[in-house]
Parts: sequence; C-alpha cells; structure tokens
Amino acid sequence: MTTPPDQPATAGDGARTAGWVVGVVGAGTMGAGIAQVAAAAGHRTLLLDARDGAAADAVAQVAGRLRRSVEKGRTDAAHAAATVDRLQPVGSVADLAGCDLVVEAVVEDLAVKHALLADLAAVVTPGTVLASNTSSLSVDDLAAPLHRPGRVAGLHFFNPAPLMRLVEVVRGAATDPAVVTDLVDLVRAWGKVPVVCASTPGFVVNRVARPFYGEAFRLLAEHPDLEPTVVDTLLRGAGGFPMGPLELTDLIGQDVNAAVGRSVWQATGEDPRYAPSPVQDALVAAGTLGRKTGSGVYPHGPGATLPVAPTVAAIPGTGLAWQPHPSAAGLAERAGVAAPVGLRDPGSRPCVVLRTTDGRTAAAVEEATGRPTVLLDLVRDPGSCSHVGAVASPGCPPGALGALAALLAGAGVAVCELPDSPGLVVARTAATLVAAAEDAVEAGVAGAGDVDLAMEHGAGHPQGPLSWGAALGHAWVAGVMDALHAATPTGRYRVCPTLRGRAVLALDRVSADLGLTLVDAGPGSGAVRGEVTARWLNGFGIVHGGTVCTVADTALALACNGAGELTVGGSLDVTWVSPGRPGDVLTARAVQRARYGRNGVYDITVTRQDGSLVAEVRGRTRTVGGPVPTRLPEDA
Ligand code: NAD
Repeated sequence: MTTPPDQPATAGDGARTAGWVVGVVGAGTMGAGIAQVAAAAGHRTLLLDARDGAAADAVAQVAGRLRRSVEKGRTDAAHAAATVDRLQPVGSVADLAGCDLVVEAVVEDLAVKHALLADLAAVVTPGTVLASNTSSLSVDDLAAPLHRPGRVAGLHFFNPAPLMRLVEVVRGAATDPAVVTDLVDLVRAWGKVPVVCASTPGFVVNRVARPFYGEAFRLLAEHPDLEPTVVDTLLRGAGGFPMGPLELTDLIGQDVNAAVGRSVWQATGEDPRYAPSPVQDALVAAGTLGRKTGSGVYPHGPGATLPVAPTVAAIPGTGLAWQPHPSAAGLAERAGVAAPVGLRDPGSRPCVVLRTTDGRTAAAVEEATGRPTVLLDLVRDPGSCSHVGAVASPGCPPGALGALAALLAGAGVAVCELPDSPGLVVARTAATLVAAAEDAVEAGVAGAGDVDLAMEHGAGHPQGPLSWGAALGHAWVAGVMDALHAATPTGRYRVCPTLRGRAVLALDRVSADLGLTLVDAGPGSGAVRGEVTARWLNGFGIVHGGTVCTVADTALALACNGAGELTVGGSLDVTWVSPGRPGDVLTARAVQRARYGRNGVYDITVTRQDGSLVAEVRGRTRTVGGPVPTRLPEDA
C-alpha cells in the first residue's frame, strides 16, 4: 500500500510499518519461519540465536526451502533471491538496536523470555515494538517487569509460519492500542490474516479448538469398543473437517497437543471444559506420541496406513418405510425419501422415524415419542457428506441400520454404527466447539468475527464455530450441551449465559415472530431489541401495549432464566411513558434488583434508539426449579 507524498501516513493504512527493520530472536522452527515471512514481505530482517551458527543455519534452511519452491515453480527466482538477501544473521542483542520490531521466538520459558526482553529493552529505541511468539505465556506476565510494557504484544504465528495464514495479535492489558494497530497492519501486509485477542490462556485457537480433540478422546474413554477411525472418519466425512482429531493429534504429537491442553486447563484455574484426557495422557506416558514415534492412536510404522472405518452392510428389501423428521430432511431428500403421511406408509408398512440427534439418545427419543427411531449424527452438508453416524432405538425392527445403509448407499453415503450416547460424535463435537466459542467471546478473548476467522484460518475448521452455531440453531446447541451435561455433570458441558440467552430466545416463537434479537443475556440481566413493524401496531397507529409487555417479558425471561434454572413471572407492573411508533427500534433491558430465596425483583426498561423511555416495568419472578427447556413441547 502506498501513500501519496503529500498525505501523512496514518495508523491503519500500513504505510507506517512498510519500511520497518525486523529482528527475530530464536532461529528455531518458528523463528526461521517468521524471519522468512518478514523478509519475503520486503523487510530487512536480522536473525539472532543464542546457539553459535544457529542463525546462519536458519538462513541456509530458508534459502533451501525457497530453492525447492522455485524448482517446483511456486516461487519466482528473483523474489526468492531477494528474500534471502534481506535475511541477515547477527551475533548479539546489541545488533538489534536499530530494529522497529523485534519478535522473540526463543524457548517457552518465562525466565528466559524475561531476561531476553530486558536485554532488548536496554538497546532498542523507545518506539521499538517487542513482540512474543509465545503459545502459552501471558503477555501481561512477559511485559510486567519492563519499564515500557505498552510496547509489548503477542504475535502468535502457527507452524509452519510461512504457510499458515492466521496470526493472533495478542493485546496485553498494558499494550498501547497504536502498537496493536501497527501489528495488525504489518501482519496483513505480510499476506496473513490477523485477529486481535486478549492475553488469555490459549488465546483464541488453542482455547476454542480444545473440544475438537477433547471430545474425541472422551468418546474413546466412554466407549472402549468405538474404533478411533470411526470418530475421525465421521468428523471428516460428515463434519467437513480436513482431518479427524485423533489422526491430527498423532501428526501434531500427542505430547505437544496434551501440553497445550494442560496449559490452558491450568491457566483457567482447572476449568473442566479444558480438563486433560486420561486416554491422551496414557498415550503420552507410554511414549506413543504419534507419527514421530511410529505409533500413537494409530500405528505409523513403515507401510502403515490409516485403518478404514467399518461401515454398516446394506440390507436391501427389508420392507421398512421411513418417516423423515424435519431435522433429517437434507439427507432424506438426497436419498429420495418422501415422507409418508401418518404412522404407516401407503403400503401399510411400519415406519421408522429418521431424525438427527438433538442431544437425546435414540432410546430417549423413542421413549418420548413412542416411535421407533433411527437417530442420525449431524452432517454439516447433507448434499456432500460421504458418511453419517447412526444408531437404532431399541424398538426398531432388526436390520433397520442395514436398511438405512441400503437407502443411503444409492446416494453415495456410508453409514457408521455408533453407540447410543448424547450428541453422538459430530453433533457433540460441533456443540462443544460452538459453546467454547461463545464462552470465549463472552469472556472478552476476541470478537465474534475474529473467533470465526481464527478457527477457519488457524485451525482449518470448515466453518467458524459462531456462524455454525447460528446455522445449527442456538437452542439445538444448548440442547446437545444440556444432554451431555446431564450425562456428565462436571461443568465441562455448561452453557454460558450468552448461549443460554440465545437458546431461550430461539425457543420462543413469539419473540421470533416479532423479529427480536438478543442484545445481552446472563444471570440477572437480559436485553432484546426489535424494530417496530406494522404488525406491532394497534388500530391507533401506536405500538400495542401487549406487544410492549411481550418485549419486556422476553428480556425478563432471559434475565431470570440465565442461571439455567426454570423461573416464571409472578407479576408485571407497567408504567407507560410514551407510545412506540413506526420507525422506533425498541430495546427492552431487564436487570435483577433483588432476590429473596426463590423470588426475584427486576427492573425492565423499554427504550427507543435515542434512549427515550417507552415504558418502565417492574417484574417479579419465582424460580420453580428444573432445567430451562431446550426444545419446544410439540417438537418432542
Ligand atoms: P525451537 O526450540 O525450535 O527454537 C528455539 C530457539 O531459540 C533455539 O534455536 C534456541 O537456540 C533459541 N534460544 C533459546 N534461548 C535463547 C535466547 N535467550 N536468545 C536467543 N536464542 C535463544 O522452538 P520453537 O518451536 O521455534 O518455539 C519458539 C517459540 O514459539 C516458543 O515460545 C513456542 O511456544 C512458540 N510457538 C511454537 C510453535 C510450534 O509449533 N513449534 C507454534 C507457535 C508458537
């Protein structure tokens, strides 16, 4: 990006950082890659390592990588030569005095990094940005001893740095906002995708991705007969992930992946959401670390290939008729199944309901509906999936899964039989990823858009978890989480207040009809917003008083159910201040004022976009106990 000479460069346009001299300390795996990225983007880049010759070796390594890339026709020869020319090994911290940015990528040890940052701070200019590539240390802890903590930030690249597009720009509590802006500009100019996040354990990717691995290992622990390859195959073939979690941890190294998880768990005060997996710990203890040791979850010795997932053999001609539930409409349509009307099809054959899991087991669905059911696992895209997980409820006729396999074989979809457990495999993984993402946004780790970007570009997930959650439906996500929580009430599957609020709102068809959206939800507070449309108005052209009460009551429901226990209204005492009119956007906000045992008192305001009051409402509530429902009664 260029700035015309008569205009001053402004922060945010990339011009300020274009000519920066970059220093990289630590010429190992990450440092060499980061130096290559900076040099390729046109920066003079100085590389320092404590070990004699390591920086020169790293430059030679980059040169070799680029040479191979030129040979394969992926990189222009002149560009490769210029990149290598810009890389300069140096011998001491003092040689970095003229750098505008120094990125440290030395060993993950707070004391070592502290000593290095102190040495750097003593030689560089006051404006030099000091960035750390740490994966697990707090930027606040790193910056704390320095005289100018405002110039310290995290710049978290992923391995291999030249290829991975995501860079987390980590903002410490003291980091100067201009430093964050400069780093975002720089990262973007380097052809990467920057996301800004707070200095919290695991930043975005290593925190939000934990359930992807954790649930797979938990499934293996809960179901010793479940073959790992079934889990991986379903997450690839039905979930759309490029690799399954178990094969991916074998690639990363079980020790490395377990250590990342453990550090997030410890740094979050042992939050059960991130609790280590005994199955993974056992692999680490046995030294079966994955590809690098020749075996992990799978054998990786010479000639070893990933095992193929067993699939259900097709049994054609069973005479079974299928009744697709709306939740399974996509796959049913692909397989050409039309829904018969009633419990029997026109040929008078018994019908088996085909539905996608909502967290309940197949047995529980059959008990609730009185209908034999084949429960399908989630598929992200019914039009393109290659596999689907399935389980038959106890009342299904023998061979129901074989009949399903025959049905779906024609559509090119293979069926993997699963144990009957809450959320099966893909739905469980998806719901826990969405919940972790909602939790991260609620905790202020990063904005929703950045969390989705980070998971797509840093973890290679097929869709950002927040946009996936919206597509799946928040009530569905909360329902799967609640079912998991009921089976394992450790807090691992808790639903954060924001997600709970979205779920409650999504369940509430009256609010959906009014077009209300969630503004805030949590224990003791809730807010919704909606634009006044013609259907809100009474015959006098103002908003119907009952509608205002509905909007206020929705905010109250979010606030009083936010703690996850069913709470009902006792009374609403409304004071009308001025009527709502077409063009108004009304926000109802409920805040708990007092609580006496099971009784709560709430103040609710209904305001317009200019802050003026439409109504003030005093709401009284009573907690009646039991969980907040996550599905509407008629959907049983
Ligand atoms: P590495 O072991 O490959 O390289 C570290 C290098 O730092 C070594 O060459 C070592 O000689 C050098 N070094 C150690 N102390 C030094 C000092 N005081 N001054 C100068 N050089 C010193 O490690 P790595 O995998 O490149 O990791 C480096 C950093 O990047 C760590 O903070 C790590 O957490 C982080 N990180 C690693 C990965 C990954 O996948 N490897 C991914 C993201 C972030």
